[in-house]
Amino acid sequence: MVKIEQDLLAKNDAFAVKNRARFAEAGVLALNLVSSPGSGKTSLLIETINRLKGELPVAVIEGDQQTSIDAERIRKTGAPAIQINTGNGCHLDAHMVGHGIEHLKPSAGSVLFMENVGNLVCPALFDLGEEHRVVLVSVTEGEDKPLKYPGMIRSSGLMLITKVDLLPHLDFDADALAANARKINPGIKILKVSARTGEGMDAWLGFIRAARSLALTGLESRVTV
Ligand code: MG
Repeated sequence: MVKIEQDLLAKNDAFAVKNRARFAEAGVLALNLVSSPGSGKTSLLIETINRLKGELPVAVIEGDQQTSIDAERIRKTGAPAIQINTGNGCHLDAHMVGHGIEHLKPSAGSVLFMENVGNLVCPALFDLGEEHRVVLVSVTEGEDKPLKYPGMIRSSGLMLITKVDLLPHLDFDADALAANARKINPGIKILKVSARTGEGMDAWLGFIRAARSLALTGLESRVTV
């Protein structure tokens, strides 16, 4: 079993290297959004896309076990989106994403959001070639989530605490969640957001803009050197 898992991950990593090279070549910023089911990934994406409209090109790969409900929700914003159904699989893998970008053809300089299957375990193991992994934890979950799922927290650069508009109605300690995340990953960036009220959205968009500038800087230096 251990050998099979190693082979599987080695194959995935080889595809991830290819994806990363393609993203770098086109100056595409790829973000891998991970979380438990129901943390608000799709709602956050819709609000994000609406706010970025007219500013920068966006494309979306939606991962779910079944249905194309989320891709249809995203397409209503006008952004190109494709749905990848993983069937019995519990995560997107780099090979699926490679096919996804062949169909989607994200334009140069765009931001590609990859909404992973809702699951805090398996997606942690599979590099998709993303620049950043962004983990969402909603305030309706437990403050101990980072301690229970350390692999995901350790491999993420940014944690978004979502649905913070609900905080007044809950006994949820966002600071305790942040402290637990930093026990696992001291360098993780943490933002509180609400797609519903817009709280924290400017900071989240700031993160995207800064990361995209860096993706484009790489592109420019390759072109001119
Ligand atoms: Mg979703």
